[in-house]
Amino acid sequence: MDRATELKQHLAVIDTAIREAASNCGRNPESIQLLAVSKTKPSSDIQMLHALGQRSFGENYVQEAVDKIHELQGLDIEWHYIGHIQSNKTKLIATEFDWVHTVDREKIASRLNDARDGDPLNILIQVNVDLAETKSGVSPTDLKALAIAIWKLPHLKLRGLMSIPDPVSEDDLQRAHQQLKGLFEEIKGDHPTPEIFDTLSMGMTNDLELAISEGSTMVRIGTALFGARAPKETL
Ligand SMILES: *Cc1c(COP(=O)(O)O)cnc(C)c1O
Repeated sequence: MDRATELKQHLAVIDTAIREAASNCGRNPESIQLLAVSKTKPSSDIQMLHALGQRSFGENYVQEAVDKIHELQGLDIEWHYIGHIQSNKTKLIATEFDWVHTVDREKIASRLNDARDGDPLNILIQVNVDLAETKSGVSPTDLKALAIAIWKLPHLKLRGLMSIPDPVSEDDLQRAHQQLKGLFEEIKGDHPTPEIFDTLSMGMTNDLELAISEGSTMVRIGTALFGARAPKETL
């Protein structure tokens, strides 16, 4: 099978999974967006998915992403940065991407704001729902203060929340998703313009159905769409 056919089949399987998960919990499937996580995958894959109608792509590694963004400049793609943010990369991220999912501290938000030109950058706050010490993400306790700080920054547009839970069991995962949804509703209630706070980025290949049943509006799918990634060491 050629690569384009393979990607087309994977995309159809994911689309069906999203529709079924939505209908199982009485949600409109159109309220859930697929973010294609293309890290480590060649721009030819992105081009083929674009030809099939996919428009949003997520990347984790800044330099790799910037190379692909430049290569595919003529295509109407919405680029999402979903990797860990180092301060010295904020300028590139702010100028090359349309969305950033992983903002977890004020200093980073402020640097992104300073570097942004043109339309405001769409921002999601990454929340550390498991409170794992090793992980990025603001703690639920500090979330509100960070949201308020971001509202004040003119070149950023706070759109919602994101999490990368690291569960030991299905129950833990469900609890983490419920917690993020609860925090989302809380912040939305306080948001000066709640209608623009509309995105809950939650769910990956292994928990797409669960995340949708808990209210996700954007699922970030890599493996199920592109196939397994090579171990990072070999890249
Ligand atoms: C790699 C990655 C994904 C995609 O994960 P899969 O399990 O391959 O679907 C989603 N979100 C983030 C933040 C990632 O780094």
